[in-house]
Amino acid sequence: MVYKAKSDVIDSKKLKEVGSLSVEACLVKEARDRELRYIMEGRDSRLLLIIGPCSAHDEEAVMEYAHRLAKLQEEVKGKMFLVMRVYTNKPRTNGDGYKGLMHQPNLEEAVDPLLGISATRKLHARVITETRLTTADEMLYPENLIFVDDLVSYHAVGARSVEDQQHRFVASGIDAPTGLKNPTSGNLNILFHALHAVQKPQDFLYNFQEVVTLGNPWAHVILRGASNEYGENQPNYYYEDLLKAVEFYEKKNFLNPCILVDTNHDNSGKKYLDQVRIVRQTLINRRWNEKLWKHVRGFMIESFLVDGRQEVDGKVFGQSITDPCLGWEKTEALVREIFQEHEVCN
Ligand code: PEP
Ligand code: MN
Repeated sequence: MVYKAKSDVIDSKKLKEVGSLSVEACLVKEARDRELRYIMEGRDSRLLLIIGPCSAHDEEAVMEYAHRLAKLQEEVKGKMFLVMRVYTNKPRTNGDGYKGLMHQPNLEEAVDPLLGISATRKLHARVITETRLTTADEMLYPENLIFVDDLVSYHAVGARSVEDQQHRFVASGIDAPTGLKNPTSGNLNILFHALHAVQKPQDFLYNFQEVVTLGNPWAHVILRGASNEYGENQPNYYYEDLLKAVEFYEKKNFLNPCILVDTNHDNSGKKYLDQVRIVRQTLINRRWNEKLWKHVRGFMIESFLVDGRQEVDGKVFGQSITDPCLGWEKTEALVREIFQEHEVCN
């Protein structure tokens, strides 16, 4: 191989000392993780929102958002469960651009993945400890999962990774809800092959050992729209698309069937304000059809303090440097609107 080692071999135990949770914070996290599992299992009919910035590039802005979101969670807790996106790994369509806090913890400096692991752990731990919320992140690099598995409560396998066997097999060993995005092609057949692989026990090599997994019963699908061969986006949140996904669930005996609608990415075509319309339309569709009511259990929403996006060197506090996000006021209004709409039927 022609790569050159830039660092010593990582001592993961030592690295994990940063951001290790107190006993009290662990108890808070465990209680919320149990609630989340009950939602995935259909024992709790509250709507699930995986909500927050596309990427968590600025610790202070992320903490400000987390404190606001925690207040909102308290207000809507009877009908909704909010997990905050603290996304520290960003997949890039052609490999260029900002690749997340775990890769480049300081935007003014060169990439530094070792420092990035500490920055990532610190940020997840701060959100949990200071706000009592729990967090979501994308498993972009399966071998890095061991650096955050004690902190992250919801994992996503992204659209560019979901066809990859290593992602699928590692996800089958995660003991937390794991959302699988449809591939960028939008192919649902591939998506449900991925779900099959993730829900089953697997035996493979991982981080220099043979390992066996139990299968992940809380793995489920996230519809995020598609991009065709001309780069045009093709949404998949419409009524018929949702029914197609239900059909796939019904064809095989998947555990804990659940569909989340990603309101941004190729569903909104990155017209981030359309996230509001997509939520409204999906709520109408859920009400119309009993199967959709049962299967469509929540949303993934990209939201930050300030509307839209800026370039990586932009200085607007709380504005995304990756995908455009819904600003705070609109987010708050949307969450309250969903709260009014949704009926809990426990
Ligand atoms: C994201 O959730 O920010 C993301 C990169 O998603 P996708 O894999 O759907 O592009
Ligand atoms: Mn995004």
